[in-house]
Amino acid sequence: MQKGNIGVTTENIFPVIKKFLYSDHEIFIREIVSNAVDATQKLKTLANKGDFKGETGELKVCVKVDKDNGTITVSDRGLGMTEEEIDKYINQIAFSGANDFLDKYKDDANAIIGHFGLGFYSSFMVSKKVEIVTKSYQEGAKAVKWSCDGSPSYEIEETEKADRGTDIIMYIDDDCKEFLEKNKIEELLRKYCRFLPVPVAFGKKTEWKDGKQVDTEEDNVINNVTPIWTKKPSDLKDEDYKEFYRELYPMSDEPLFWIHLNVDYPFNLTGVLYFPKIKNNIELQRNKIQLYCNQVYVTDSVEGIVPDFLTLLHGVIDSPDIPLNVSRSYLQSDSNVKKISSYITKKVSDRLQSLFKNDRKEFEQKWDDIKIFINYGMLTQDDFYDKAKNFALFKDCDGKYFTFEEYQQLIKDNQTDKDGNLIYLYAQNKEAQYSYIEAAKNKGYSVLLLDGQLDTPIVSMLERKFEKSRFTRVDADIIDRLIVKEDANKSELDAEKSANLSAIFNFQMPKLDKTEFHVEAQGMGENGMPVMITQSEYMRRMKDMAHIQPGMSFYGEMPDMYTLVLNTDHRLIKEVLADSETHTAEQLKPIEAELKGLHAREAVLHQQQEGKKPEEIDQAQKDELDKCHQDISAEEQKKNDVLAGYGKDNKKVHQLIDLALLQNGMLTGEALSNFVKRSIDLIQ
Ligand code: ADP
Ligand code: MG
Repeated sequence: MQKGNIGVTTENIFPVIKKFLYSDHEIFIREIVSNAVDATQKLKTLANKGDFKGETGELKVCVKVDKDNGTITVSDRGLGMTEEEIDKYINQIAFSGANDFLDKYKDDANAIIGHFGLGFYSSFMVSKKVEIVTKSYQEGAKAVKWSCDGSPSYEIEETEKADRGTDIIMYIDDDCKEFLEKNKIEELLRKYCRFLPVPVAFGKKTEWKDGKQVDTEEDNVINNVTPIWTKKPSDLKDEDYKEFYRELYPMSDEPLFWIHLNVDYPFNLTGVLYFPKIKNNIELQRNKIQLYCNQVYVTDSVEGIVPDFLTLLHGVIDSPDIPLNVSRSYLQSDSNVKKISSYITKKVSDRLQSLFKNDRKEFEQKWDDIKIFINYGMLTQDDFYDKAKNFALFKDCDGKYFTFEEYQQLIKDNQTDKDGNLIYLYAQNKEAQYSYIEAAKNKGYSVLLLDGQLDTPIVSMLERKFEKSRFTRVDADIIDRLIVKEDANKSELDAEKSANLSAIFNFQMPKLDKTEFHVEAQGMGENGMPVMITQSEYMRRMKDMAHIQPGMSFYGEMPDMYTLVLNTDHRLIKEVLADSETHTAEQLKPIEAELKGLHAREAVLHQQQEGKKPEEIDQAQKDELDKCHQDISAEEQKKNDVLAGYGKDNKKVHQLIDLALLQNGMLTGEALSNFVKRSIDLIQ
């Protein structure tokens, strides 16, 4: 027997490994199994080249858990090791790389955990002792047993082993007993070893017999050795891609379509990316792309490697050229990684472009589902926008699709305002904004349906990208002012009457939480609605943005501001006005006379004081003006009280307000109930 020290510089490196990689102990299984796979592959290569002349036999890796003895054993029939090789690969070399690495990245522990293969020595994260029993493929090789109990010293001796290959026997630590559970190991094998290129058997398949679960003869092979990304696209059918998708995500709906990645220059990368059918929450759908390195699972967090917007896709990427042993911040500056990222973006946009070109109908059918990816991509990556603007679609309220270009042509003639701005009208909810959509359509306008999660920021982005264009929701204003074609002619109603009418309604508006109403009188044609509610585009959009963008909560706190527009051309409004005039004339007469006098007085005073500096005006004059203002407010108040008093008892006013609220889904609770009662009363 021979004893020696492993070639490490730090005496107590094992405790360091244990502590350092504490949170990711489980990767030991990946490391040990992938070494077994490597050894098997190497043997195959030797056999192919004729350097190994014996029988390879059935090549497979076996994993066994022995709970009673507290061991996990990984066995292969690969090329094995001679004593010299153990010395070279295990005692000397294996650790030095890791040691340097730990030194260098001490401060970046989280970043490296799980991304750096500590290789063989990761077995010590979970073991108090590890044995290697191995016999080289070389003729006349003697079997050797190496063992190490977690201190830097090891023992090596000759032993008996019938078969070529290596057994790694891990004596599991007392505080890692969970790894002696069959289920746990099976779960880890499925996670890390699912697509390894050599069959990995974990015990036997079981079957139900005589009332219990018993082992069959058949190995329980946990991996698929030829996942589709290792095959040629030309050898694959749609069904193969779908089947593989089901294998990866048994709970998901069928994917919309997929992209087979396959490059070998200037970097190596294979994989299949799927556009999933996304339900509604984007966040929950991330981390569905799995990164492999030569079929060994590495991670499912691929940010930095895949462009941000594509992390919403599903699928696998396999590349030996992605540096796995470095921190995330380093990843982003790695030139291979950058190339990979732009390659993937390009592949995705090419695929979308060709789908659009070759099968527009299918593309349109899938549009609603893929829209979120494309919108996200356009918002976050300018180079993607430049490609996507040619195939991104608008959908109108009738379900027709247009490219940006086509849509612009469509609305150019009818929806350009007097200042030459192209006005894109849209609705966010076909039901809620129904009457506004109808009004716009009657006017010959087209209305887009922008009901997607990212449509609000998209609208703002497109306003920046398109020249002289504005997006306006259909209910942002009365129809005549949505697209102003010529300077509005003055409202026929005189200002005084308008103000009175507005006041009558204004005082009857409901007091809603975080909601403010402003009332305005405006001619909208005798066939228009008597009242309607509009909400200005700007504030509404800012509030929408506040919902999705942190840092805009200021807008989120603002009240919703609506305008109640009274149609002065409408019979009912005219009636209210006429009726109010008869009923309030007497009360208003003295007030109005008083106001008239006060305003005249005010004008005189203003004139006297005009052009003078404050110190040149004598105090008496100043006081008089102040008094005059006070009197005006007092009279205004009186007048408002009269108008409010009139409105309060007027059923028509309340009915009209409620109808407008109802149309906008804002009439609820007690107000709704009052409305219903009043409506019943009104039915004669
Ligand atoms: P790496 O796999 O990156 O080379 P490891 O620490 O995992 O690093 O392994 C070190 C070396 O030990 C391997 O390169 C290989 O030569 C040898 N080795 C490990 N496991 C086996 C095995 N099961 N069969 C044969 N050789 C092995
Ligand atoms: Mg290894």
